[in-house]
Amino acid sequence: MARNPGPYTGPGTNTWVLDDGSGAVTVIDPGPVDTAHARAIMEVVAARRLQSVLVTHTHSDHAPMANPLASEVGVPAVGYAPGPSFEPDIRLLDGARFAVGSLRLEVLHTPGHSGDHLCFRAGDVLFTGDHVIGGSTVMVEDMGAYLRSLRKVQGVGARKMLPGHGDEIDDPRSMIDWYLAHRLRRHQEVLEAIRSGCETVSEVVGKVYAEVDSSLHPLAARSVAAHVGLLAEEGRIAWDDDRLVLLPSP
Ligand SMILES: [Zn+2]
Repeated sequence: MARNPGPYTGPGTNTWVLDDGSGAVTVIDPGPVDTAHARAIMEVVAARRLQSVLVTHTHSDHAPMANPLASEVGVPAVGYAPGPSFEPDIRLLDGARFAVGSLRLEVLHTPGHSGDHLCFRAGDVLFTGDHVIGGSTVMVEDMGAYLRSLRKVQGVGARKMLPGHGDEIDDPRSMIDWYLAHRLRRHQEVLEAIRSGCETVSEVVGKVYAEVDSSLHPLAARSVAAHVGLLAEEGRIAWDDDRLVLLPSP
């Protein structure tokens, strides 16, 4: 775990060192640039042969050390697309499969938390980055894409999920069910708030998150904005200048 605890990172970012048992390893999400953490990663790698450094997505708590670590060892940095402090040597598309020694890794493009998000499947283990994390929900940029990506990983039938933050998840199916139920309930609450007369994101936040400390309302506003975006995609609401309006049901 990287030493970057905080409101967005929980106890810190999890870095995974994936070992096939025959001396080849790959690193997933080395985290922010931190020489002590780089040293800790290389101590775990030890005498084994590091093959590549993967990133699940390019947020600043996951990817910035990928390029420095990969180039120091002379291996490729691998991800979906370039980001603010990440430049992939190899870009992976949805469905790509590749080997880490004797292990086969399958790539799932899982947009929603961010557009460039990947999960990696090794057998019945799924590395989930910030798509699903241990112990809480995640920030969502695109709610429609996020719900589709949750159903996609549900379909993989993993028996264990190793997330970017928090503890390992031993019951993926019930965790993803809970994630989906939570989002769908919020989605309904946001729609109800607009039905009851809320005309802006901040009015919706005030109603739906009334019981939540107001210091968290800016975070809640990002989540509500993602739900509002999906309601618009669904043709249930529209923006009239800067006011939300309910559209008649089809
Ligand atoms: Zn993230």
